[in-house]
Amino acid sequence: MQTSFSLAQLADPQVRESEKILRACVHCGFCTATCPTYVLLGDELDSPRGRIYLMKEMLEHDRPATPEVVKHIDRCLSCLACMTTCPSGVHYMHLVDHAREHIEKTYRRPLPERLLREALARVLPHPARLRMALRLGRLAKPFTALFERMRLAPLAALLRLLPSGPPPRMPRQDNRPPRSSQGVRKGSVVLFSVCANQALAPRIEAAAANVLSRHEIDVIAAAGQGCCGALLHHLGRSDEALAQARAALDLLSRQIDNGLDAIVVTASGCGTMLKDYEFLLRDDSRYAAKAAKVSALTRDISEYLSTLGLAPTRDVAERVIAYHAACSLQHGQKVVREPKELLSKMGYSVKDVPEGHLCCGSAGTYNILQPEIARRLGERKAQNIERLKPDAITAGNIGCISQIAVYTDIPLVHPVELVDWATGGPMPQALRNRGIAA
Ligand code: SF4
Ligand code: SF4
Repeated sequence: MQTSFSLAQLADPQVRESEKILRACVHCGFCTATCPTYVLLGDELDSPRGRIYLMKEMLEHDRPATPEVVKHIDRCLSCLACMTTCPSGVHYMHLVDHAREHIEKTYRRPLPERLLREALARVLPHPARLRMALRLGRLAKPFTALFERMRLAPLAALLRLLPSGPPPRMPRQDNRPPRSSQGVRKGSVVLFSVCANQALAPRIEAAAANVLSRHEIDVIAAAGQGCCGALLHHLGRSDEALAQARAALDLLSRQIDNGLDAIVVTASGCGTMLKDYEFLLRDDSRYAAKAAKVSALTRDISEYLSTLGLAPTRDVAERVIAYHAACSLQHGQKVVREPKELLSKMGYSVKDVPEGHLCCGSAGTYNILQPEIARRLGERKAQNIERLKPDAITAGNIGCISQIAVYTDIPLVHPVELVDWATGGPMPQALRNRGIAA
């Protein structure tokens, strides 16, 4: 694609990067076939190629975002299916991140949208605030249909996402001291604490800690760790997101200096962000080196466990597990094989979900901000999964777990809960709740 940025514009490293990305696009349109919004809406402007044109026009002329551009960029899930499909290696993620930042700086959204986005930014990346909001949300959940009728679709979507029942309690972790035959540890990792996991599903990180310590890996808690910045980053609030990233880098760098094999993450959305720190902070002289180290050491939990040669200690009777590949894991991190191979090794019968490249509609805060498209994607995903008749569904991201649970009664678990069960831990709570026999 030809571009005509001025030399003055190209002095800005972010513009330079976007120009490079735009030039790589050859307009072939292969990406349209796998783009969920194009598949649903059939509008070229809701395809990656159409959005690339819109972003080019906006950035090249350094124009304030128009309502039309905002509409189509907001509808993008940042699922990155287009990056997996693109034969020219167009780095759509960094381009759309730039566009979202430009929109945030140049476009004044209507008041209700501003308030909603502000509330999400102030609550979701803070586990204590999120827990409080969940408590209030549980009280309001019975009125979901009423909010729907009052045309408060984002609020209704938010309430539908809340799990029913009492708030989750922190499950017990194995207290057995980890042992090794030579008295030496096999490894040492930081288990990155995920904001949404802490509030919605503390069992996930507890299961990860159990599996790791059971296999002689030291698990270091990153005390005082905050959000990785992914949520604010996807809302286009880059300055705040980078402030969160720098705080996380300071903390993780201290751990790295004490000796560390990996930073292990149980939510692929956060893992993708950590792996992108190197790019995001490349021009920050104080943080570039720290960011490069953290990105290089970050592993999804399935990637890390795959290196340990785990073997099951319990017969899980070939239970059928539908594997939902979270977009941030399969498209963002290109981690495709590891979770499925790991679960197969544990004795589960793992099935791929038809149309596995299509997003479930979760996409960070997308299912709140774009509830109608997210609903259609969620229903389509659930239908595809139910055709497999699985005993359970597994996904490596809490966002997908919460989203898919709205549209199906099949229990949802994180892969690490299944690994924990197969290697001696408790049966995952979601399976116990459905009365599935051990
Ligand atoms: S990120 Fe996903 S929704 Fe956005 S353009 Fe690419 S494929 Fe489409
Ligand atoms: S597949 Fe790649 S090169 Fe082709 S239109 Fe899409 S982004 Fe451009």
